[in-house]
Parts: sequence; C-alpha cells; structure tokens
Amino acid sequence: MIDSNDLKLIEEAKKIINKNFDEINENHTVGAALRCKNGNVYVGVNVYAQHGSCAEYIAMGTAITAGEREFDTIVAVRSPKKNNTLIAPCGNCRQLLMQYAPDIKVLIQTEDGIEKFFIKELLPYSPY
Ligand SMILES: [Zn+2]
Repeated sequence: MIDSNDLKLIEEAKKIINKNFDEINENHTVGAALRCKNGNVYVGVNVYAQHGSCAEYIAMGTAITAGEREFDTIVAVRSPKKNNTLIAPCGNCRQLLMQYAPDIKVLIQTEDGIEKFFIKELLPYSPY
C-alpha cells in the first residue's frame, strides 16, 4: 500500500521534471525522487546524450554524493507533456537499485493503480 509519504515523493518527482523539462530538445523528460531511510529526499532529471543517464541514476548519485547510504523508496515520472505519468525503471536502473539498495521499494503504475514493489520483485534471480 502506498501512503502519504509516497504521494509526496511522486509530487517531488513531478516538480523537478516540470521545472526542468526540455520541451525543445527533449534532453530532460523524466524526473525521479528518492527517499532515504532517514526521510531525506533527493531528486534528479535524466540527462540525455549518446551515453546519457536516467533520472534514477542522477537522484541516486546526488544522494550518495551527499553521504546517504540507506534508501527507502524511489519513483520516476514522465514529462508534463506525458501528463507526469509514472515510469517504471529500465533494466539498467533496476540493476543499480539492486546493487546499491537491495531492499528499496519502487512505485509503479499498474492496471490497479500505483503500487509499491521491492526491487527484488522487479529483478528476480539477480546474481548481484
Ligand atoms: Zn533507467
């Protein structure tokens, strides 16, 4: 079940992509928000390039740079052009989360609404 803190996290992800959405070049089209176990929240937007980075990576890197190591929940949303709908993490991000935060939860839009999954459910049988 998602709670009010999860809804707040979604709002943070929306806020950061709505602030940085690059409508002309579409270099920044996804926003992510990451909540640490201590309650601190870090955000990021994707950085598009030949070998660019997803918003989840930027948020996680920002949190790690600030000294955080314990992570609770992460979410990513699309641009306002795509109605800020939630976007599930790509395979590369699932691997990142599994390695850095093996007990993190991920908010995902399903047919039944917004649901919370453990990263282990999203990357089963991972060797790492
Ligand atoms: Zn990704």
